[in-house]
Amino acid sequence: MIDGIIKYNFDFQQSSPLEESQFIEIEAVRSRLLALGLIGVANGIGYGNISQRVDRDSFVITGTQTGHLKNLNANHYSLIEEYDNKKFYLKSSGAIKPSSEALTHGTIYNLSDEIGAVVHIHSKRVWRFMLDGSYLKTAVVEYGSVDMIDEVNRIFSDIDPLSNPKFVMAGHEEGVMIFGKNLLEAEMILFEIVGDIIKNEN
Ligand SMILES: [Zn+2]
Repeated sequence: MIDGIIKYNFDFQQSSPLEESQFIEIEAVRSRLLALGLIGVANGIGYGNISQRVDRDSFVITGTQTGHLKNLNANHYSLIEEYDNKKFYLKSSGAIKPSSEALTHGTIYNLSDEIGAVVHIHSKRVWRFMLDGSYLKTAVVEYGSVDMIDEVNRIFSDIDPLSNPKFVMAGHEEGVMIFGKNLLEAEMILFEIVGDIIKNEN
């Protein structure tokens, strides 16, 4: 499954690039995950995306098809100004369209006002480990689909999302979602999973 196609209805208003202060923290996390191959490019298609909440209904996210770029600048980040999972709608501005998984990020932000960051990585190893383990998982549904939104809402319907802020996307090969109160917390949770993989192998 690839991340290349935007499937929802979106209202993209091309505007001036974002300010550096709006994405500098995302960029720091992104460069580490890119170095580890958790964000990047495979067969010409970029994968992985990161977002950071701005306020209740707004967040900054990496732009579409930026996975192949080593460093991102103001032209590569998108501001989501509004999103509505039920109407499958989002409105964005900036110099680039948002990642095709922006609405999944928005669905996660909707779970709790305390969620401040969402990280989506691709890794066969992490994906397989989580699928085989006792992690939360979506059913086999496509990324960026209405079904994915329903699945995210379903798996967190009776638990506090921040008590278990990670899940594996069964129908989206290699796809894993992690979130947290802030970016560093989300990154730490990802590295805890990686640590568990290493422990499990020894
Ligand atoms: Zn993906």
